Formats: sequence, C-alpha cells, structure tokens
Amino acid sequence: MELLPIVSYEKREERLAALWRRGSLFDPEIESAVQEILHQVQQRGDAALLELTEQFDGVRPAALRVSEEELAAAFAAMDADLKAIMAEAADNIRRFHERQRRTSWFVEEEDGVVLGQRIVPLERVGLYVPGGRACYPSSLLMNAIPAQVAGVPELHLVSPPGPSGRPHPLVLATAYFLGIRHVYAVGGAQAIAALAFGTETIPSVDKIVGPGNVYVALAKKMVFGRVDIDAVAGPSEIVVLADDTADPEFVAADLLSQAEHDERASAVLVTPHTLLAEAVRAQVQRMVATAPRRAILEASLARYGACIVTPSMREAYAVVNELAPEHLELMVRDPWAALPHIRHAGAIFLGPFSTEPVGDYFAGPNHVLPTGGTARYASALSVDDFVRSQSIIAYTAERLQQTGPRIMRFAEAEELPAHAQAVAVRLARLVEQELGS
Ligand code: NAD
Repeated sequence: MELLPIVSYEKREERLAALWRRGSLFDPEIESAVQEILHQVQQRGDAALLELTEQFDGVRPAALRVSEEELAAAFAAMDADLKAIMAEAADNIRRFHERQRRTSWFVEEEDGVVLGQRIVPLERVGLYVPGGRACYPSSLLMNAIPAQVAGVPELHLVSPPGPSGRPHPLVLATAYFLGIRHVYAVGGAQAIAALAFGTETIPSVDKIVGPGNVYVALAKKMVFGRVDIDAVAGPSEIVVLADDTADPEFVAADLLSQAEHDERASAVLVTPHTLLAEAVRAQVQRMVATAPRRAILEASLARYGACIVTPSMREAYAVVNELAPEHLELMVRDPWAALPHIRHAGAIFLGPFSTEPVGDYFAGPNHVLPTGGTARYASALSVDDFVRSQSIIAYTAERLQQTGPRIMRFAEAEELPAHAQAVAVRLARLVEQELGS
C-alpha cells in the first residue's frame, strides 16, 4: 500500500473515516474477559492478582510490592547521563505545572456572609505504567508530576513484571527519582481492579491515570464511577499544517516521529501546496526505507497517513479543526498569525524548531493529550485533574432571616417540604429569640 497518499480536499472524508474508526475499543470478547478479571480480583484480592499475573505475564512475582531497596538499587544502576537529562526534564515539567495551581478563594460580603471555593488535592492516586513491549519513563514523569504539584500525598504505581518478576528497571528508577515508594509488580486489567477495589497489598485509590493497552483501557472504563479516571487514550496522532515555507525534511521527520508509536498511529500533512506534499512524501519514503521501526511506520503510514491538499489555507484550517488532532504543528510563514484560526487541538507547536518530541520529553507542558478528536472538548492532563473544589457557604442569622421566605417558596414549588421546614425551624427560633430579648 502507498505510504502517505496525496488526497484532495474533496476526497478527504473517505480517507479520514478510517482514522476515526481506529481508536474503537468495542470488542465484546475482550470486554467479557476484562469483566471476569475485575470480578476475580474483587472476590479474591492478592491471590487472584498472582494467578492472573502468572497467566498473562508468564511469571509469579515473589512479592507484589517492590521494596524501597529494590527501587533505590534500580536508581543507583541508572545511567548517569540519563539521570541528569531526566532531572532537567522533570524540572521543566514541574515549573510548567506549578503555574497551573489554582488557589482557594473566599468572599466576605458586607453583612458577614462568607462564600468560597476550597481547592483540595485527591488523597490517593494510582499510576498505571505500561510494560509489555516498551518502557516510557517520560510517561511516568508526565502523569506523576502534576499529581505531586497538586499536593496528592499518596501515589501508588502499578506496572507489569518482566521475566524477572519485577517491572522494567527504568520504571523503578524513575519512580525512585520521583519519590514514589508504593510500587507494585502487576499490570493489565488486574492492576486496575486492584487500584479500584483494593486488595490485601494494594489500597483502593480515588483516581487512576496512565496509558495502557486495550485490557487496561477497558478496565479503566469499567471501574469509572467507583474511582475517577483520566481520559481513555486512543492511538497517537500528529497533524502538520504547512505552507511553501516549510522544510519538507522537517515535516517528514515529524510525521514519522508519531507514526512510529504503533501500527494504529496516524500522521497527516495538511497543505495548500501540491509541490510541498510531493516533496514531503519523497522524504518520508526515503526515511522509512532505513528506519529501525520500518514495519510499524509502513503499517501506520499506509493505513492512517495522508497528505491532504486543500484549495487554500482557509480549507486547510477547516480540515485541522475537523480532525481536532492530539498534536498540531504549524509550519507556516507566520505561525502566530495562524494560531487564531485553530479551534481544536491538544497541543500546538509553533514554527520549524518546535518539533513534537520537544513536547514529548522536555519543554514542560504535559504530553498526555486528548486523542481521537476529543480535543473538541478535552484538555491536556494537568494539575486540575488531581484536585477537587469544595464549595464553602457560611450564612448568618440575619441573611437567613432576610432570604429564608424566598428559599422556602422555591422548595415548596419543587414539592420538597422538608427543605422548606429546615429553613422554617430556624426562622421560628430567631423570632422566639427576638421576642425573648
Ligand atoms: P500494558 O502494560 O498496557 O499491558 C500489558 C498487560 O496486558 C499484561 O501485563 C497483561 O496483564 C495484559 N494482557 C496481555 N494480554 C492479555 C490477555 N490476552 N488477556 C488479559 N490480559 C492481557 O503494555 P502493552 O501491551 O505494551 O501496551 C502499552 C500500550 O500503552 C500501548 O498501546 C502503547 O501505545 C500505550 N502507550 C501510550 C502512551 C501515551 O501517552 N498515549 C504512552 C505509553 C504507552
């Protein structure tokens, strides 16, 4: 199949339809398997976790909990250069997220009534770190740091064990670096069940965040309500909006940077310039031929790649907004002038030097972003995901006396007489006190 085919604006719908379908989680067979796993863990706790781990990961860990000594040893063994780079990235991520912190506020009105909003962190958060085929310490930084900035006191990390019975050493080292001390060698739907229901070793948490495969994603959807979850992430995607000032090699390299994630990743160029589209395609073909992840690139670019050539920039903006991409790069003459035309995108990278991996690892903004067109209503993971706001109401006798009859009238209109009565008993007491004094 052709990699990154050139598609005209008029024919785009057909090509994009495949893109929308690719994130579907609907599979009744997997759904019932996940339901059974949740049930087993809810009924039998740790014993079920160990059995399921043996069944799906092919190993029975000596202990589910990873000790602090093991975490420290993994950190000590970590490459010194990588430690320094990770520290710098973590610093950037922390500083960016500190700006997101919301503060509580209270207003005292003239008669002494106080109203407000108190911002309170969640108490326990579960972090899922995928195991399986790859290891993503950057993903752990992006999920854990906003929770820490929010002030969440307890973070519980789960990640599937490898052949040694322990999660990937880089995950353990990163956890240690971040000060996370509750780490468990368990993955898949069973780990999500443990975090939702609690077992002898793993406590139930208030919210579960972090990416994972279809078993993990479905389990998170199923336990939602008992606990909160972050969004259910679909496959990754990038859209590059480019004009004739864009460098075809830069554009091609950036399209590949997302397409290499997995076979279902999507990479789309939107441009009004046919010559640029052709030059980018040529570069893509050249780069894919020698790329280490060639098979994945070929699969994703053939099925979910496209160069959409539009009649003008106006239609190009429209296509970007239709796609509402997770990552959007603006490689145009004046990216700041283009920005007001963009309504839907998870993260927007401006200019030729803001390549997407800068955001994946280093710049500071979160790389956990809305996928599959959900940027229409969703945002990047942030400190807000780890706090609640509580409403504060402190009324005075005078204000209740003044407003009580209207509140009662409202309650009566809703046919909730006990609501009216709660006000009435106080108004009666206040009248008694006035008469007594
Ligand atoms: P994973 O940790 O998500 O899943 C591994 C677990 O799946 C195993 O421990 C096992 O318990 C369970 N499992 C496997 N086969 C099963 C079966 N037949 N029945 C029941 N359970 C089964 O690791 P993974 O599989 O490598 O997937 C990682 C996913 O996370 C990938 O899809 C990757 O793209 C995604 N990811 C996304 C981001 C992001 O930011 N969006 C970052 C990192 C990873």
